[in-house]
Amino acid sequence: MNIVLLGAPGAGKGTQGQKLVEEYGIAHISTGDLLRAAVKAQSELGKKAKEYMDAGQLVPDQLVIDLVKERLAQPDAQKGFMLDGFPRNIAQAETLDGELKGMGVELDAALLVDVPFDVIVERLSSRRTCRACGYTAPAGTDTCPRCGGEMYQRDDDKPETIAKRLDTYQNQTQPLIDYYKGHGILKAVDGNRAVDEVYVDVKKVLGA
Ligand code: AMP
Repeated sequence: MNIVLLGAPGAGKGTQGQKLVEEYGIAHISTGDLLRAAVKAQSELGKKAKEYMDAGQLVPDQLVIDLVKERLAQPDAQKGFMLDGFPRNIAQAETLDGELKGMGVELDAALLVDVPFDVIVERLSSRRTCRACGYTAPAGTDTCPRCGGEMYQRDDDKPETIAKRLDTYQNQTQPLIDYYKGHGILKAVDGNRAVDEVYVDVKKVLGA
């Protein structure tokens, strides 16, 4: 199963993705997580990426594409993968198509987790993320329910940056919905429900 996850920041892509990964043993490739790890490690790439991330803008395509290519070549991705947060614009989607073609691999689905914008703003403002494992939950607990790590508010989940990220999403990422519709692989679920209810639908639309 090779999937691309689509949806606004905070739509629940990561949460649904994690469930699919746990159930089907496919590789979870989150460019946001890869970039945050690079920033934390203060690598050259991390230093370059940080200023864009802090501003709620997309990191330049080539930096992200190199990260994804490297990750797709790893052994665990050969069983199937789920791309979370990539592609983020049409150029990245086209590059991905070319890469996958070269690898002899096809995308089975682009899964859209659809949530109204007012709900997204509310969710992102109250979102806390685990420093250790990346688990996300609404504000209210300082300890990660999954691994016991520290929950914190990502800098880009602060109100000024949220508005910019949503703007970036609307202008650059939303056109991917039509792109994948045109390729006949778009599958959409209503993400404005409880996590487990959404997941039932996810499996249904994926035929999993
Ligand atoms: P996310 O965790 O997916 O919300 O990503 C956090 C930030 O990382 C985004 O706001 C971007 O600055 C950057 N980022 C993540 N994925 C990509 C991508 N595919 N292309 C460019 N920038 C990205």
